[in-house]
Amino acid sequence: MEETAYELVLEAGSKGILQSDLWKKLGVNSREGSRIAVKLESKGLARRVKELYKGRWTYRLYANKEEETPITWNTLNDCPCFTCITITRCGAAQPISPIKCQKLTNWIQKQIMDF
Ligand code: SF4
Repeated sequence: MEETAYELVLEAGSKGILQSDLWKKLGVNSREGSRIAVKLESKGLARRVKELYKGRWTYRLYANKEEETPITWNTLNDCPCFTCITITRCGAAQPISPIKCQKLTNWIQKQIMDF
């Protein structure tokens, strides 16, 4: 249930999603919905921002995507494409392709294992 809730929060993007709308989409009551929202926040996956909506205080949830997948220049360290002698001939529809490249595949697998 939390995974589905997180996906819904992610889908909402930068506009976020009202807690009550999240409950409706999940098909749960407000008590269960609040528990899920608090859990997402405590895990650092989402943040709840207090909002006055139709005269009532509620919360809007936003995904903390940055915390889940930090992207920095260091993320690209050692990417084989930067020093590849065939980069000018490499392309999706070319004989040399990132889709078939073992060097790139190995590097991506290493990134995943190190994460
Ligand atoms: S995908 Fe492979 S062949 Fe293409 S530029 Fe990167 S390392 Fe070179």
